[in-house]
Amino acid sequence: MTDATIVAISTPPGRGGLGVVRLSGGQAIEIATRLIKLPKLPLETQHATRGDFVEAESGRVLDQVVVTCFRAPHSYTAEDVVEISCHGAPIILRNLEERCLAEGARPAEPGEFTMRAFLNGRIDLTQAEAVRDLIESQTIYQARVAAQQLNGSVSARLKPHKQVLLELIARLEAGIDFAEDDVSVIDWQEIVSRIDRIRGDLETVAAGYEYGRIVREGLTLAIVGRPNVGKSSLFNRLLNEERAIVTAIPGTTRDLVAETANLCGIPLRFVDTAGVREAQDEVEKIGVERTFSAIADSDLRLMVVDASEPWTEEDTALLEKLRPLGSLLIALNKSDLPPRVTDVAPGLSLAHADLKVGATMLVRTSALTGEGIHDLKEKILALAVPARDVLPEGEFITNLRHQQLVKNSLAGLAKAHQAAEQHTPHEMLLLDLYDALRPLDLITGATYADDVLDIIFKTFCVGK
Ligand code: GDP
Repeated sequence: MTDATIVAISTPPGRGGLGVVRLSGGQAIEIATRLIKLPKLPLETQHATRGDFVEAESGRVLDQVVVTCFRAPHSYTAEDVVEISCHGAPIILRNLEERCLAEGARPAEPGEFTMRAFLNGRIDLTQAEAVRDLIESQTIYQARVAAQQLNGSVSARLKPHKQVLLELIARLEAGIDFAEDDVSVIDWQEIVSRIDRIRGDLETVAAGYEYGRIVREGLTLAIVGRPNVGKSSLFNRLLNEERAIVTAIPGTTRDLVAETANLCGIPLRFVDTAGVREAQDEVEKIGVERTFSAIADSDLRLMVVDASEPWTEEDTALLEKLRPLGSLLIALNKSDLPPRVTDVAPGLSLAHADLKVGATMLVRTSALTGEGIHDLKEKILALAVPARDVLPEGEFITNLRHQQLVKNSLAGLAKAHQAAEQHTPHEMLLLDLYDALRPLDLITGATYADDVLDIIFKTFCVGK
């Protein structure tokens, strides 16, 4: 890697109280001290020092700043780092950045600060990825999970399994290399049982991903039902009870930002399902189809029924459509009014009898009084994230890249299992075991390919 000094504005674009320009690399301190007038030199490390950012020719003060200097290796990137905290005026920040460039720094690539922390061995890949997740978190729960991963929880989770695999590989390699010596040979049964132990453990890790994905990305809920049954009222209840999430993701189109509720730390997005009625014409038909595929793609469906009105044909038709899609929640809403839907309407008993995919749960609610809303939330979580109660924070993987690699590792182990059962020579068996080991290395970055790094760090913003 180059030892060029990089610079970027590390705070988000726009005006604010503060704006930070960050430098990292061998020349960071030198460049900063050339641009900022400081009371005394050298810059004290791990200390904030007041200084003046001055114009090049006239020496006139442009801004009063605070300079914080971190010397290698005790910094974010493990290189010399200087953070210059200015007032958050874009014109000042840009000018300071340009002056740093003129002094020999180069603009940082997206995620380059974090990438340097990785390349310099201060953090592993899972921790670098957690930085991004932390920055993007929308709920405190998401932040907590990301912070644990930043602390190395993913690697810690995988390490013991990798260790068992490594030991097995070492044993087999030793058997081959020192065939004449007295290295005890492990029998086939022992090999198979060790492989299966790792497989079982990694399968648990892989199974936690579905939950991890929902923690990271949130879940989508399609609320369906006839007009006026209380769909919007129920969703508003969910939004109000849990403070709505502030959406501040740059680049998101306004119309795509559906409102998001915070359901026990998991972002809950509402899929707009207005207009799943029978289509009148071609154009409407396309609209209905599109809505229906959005409903099918949701993590969970909530069918709302007005319990104060008789069950209708339309309800049955809707239920028939929803049943094959997977887990389904049925809210018998308006429970504050005298009930007309008998406890189990004809359609609902059907739902129980022969629902083959997922599960169906019933809940009585009143969007008006708030009755049953707590129960509704519990059931949404129970259906969408069944693993929630069994997996403690940090015990699951949230990242698709990690999930795929764990699966690749499992594929290697499956081959190894078969090879061992068929008493394939150790040399061949080892190939499968290495196929299982390599993906685990790729997760933490013990071995890595440049294109993997590209994928990971390109999704960062500049300055991170
Ligand atoms: P949507 O068309 O399914 O979205 O239904 P809305 O949420 O707009 O509600 C239709 C009407 O039913 C409104 O007048 C609501 O105030 C009323 N409503 C919704 N939920 C309840 C409830 O639980 N109890 C009572 N009594 N009225 C409700």
